Amino acid sequence: MNNDTRRLLFERLRAANPAPTTELNYATPFELLVAVVLSAQATDKGVNKATARLFPMANTPRTILELGLDGLKESIRTIGLYNTKAENIIKTCRLLIERHGSEVPRDRAALEALPGVGRKTANVILNTAFGEPTIAVDTHIFRVSNRTGLAPGKNVLEVERRLLKVVPREFRQDAHHWLILHGRYVCTARAPKCPVCPVADLCDAQRRASSHRTRNRSLNA
Ligand code: SF4
Repeated sequence: MNNDTRRLLFERLRAANPAPTTELNYATPFELLVAVVLSAQATDKGVNKATARLFPMANTPRTILELGLDGLKESIRTIGLYNTKAENIIKTCRLLIERHGSEVPRDRAALEALPGVGRKTANVILNTAFGEPTIAVDTHIFRVSNRTGLAPGKNVLEVERRLLKVVPREFRQDAHHWLILHGRYVCTARAPKCPVCPVADLCDAQRRASSHRTRNRSLNA
């Protein structure tokens, strides 16, 4: 995919959704951090249900520590891997109080030093809570980047680096959300909705599929 096509692809995604954002419910950087940690291998809908129970009771490092490990587990027990996630959140709350004055740090290394927070989570926090033009590559973005030819790569880090290089600056802040939403609702893993896809004419996978169909038709003629 060349630069003009990439620009066109983001112009189309922007036209369809001018102000994209996360589907996780949150009101503060700390709430977002907890929601993102909970969202590993869980749906945003499931996380929102759990945080709707948790946040009215406890939505700061101190109040979650007061709730305690068992209280936290009880609030999030509907989410997969809740035991490990609860332990990580409790440890994270302690570190935030001890090292960061109970605030979520706006710093990649400090974020990645928190239990349960990897590169992807740090990217989401930096982008969505602090407005930095990072791109967190999850399974949806990895798939869309490879299928479309936008930023092909063998692993998530390779795709992230390529996206940061090739996504035009004006789209970088929101690229993360546009690509996730496109992957979640249109370019789905098992049955991509190519006939209604707004970027089908720009997509490498679609181009390959149509030239394959044309070749088969001429072979069968
Ligand atoms: S045309 Fe199909 S494969 Fe390409 S981006 Fe759209 S949905 Fe995905």
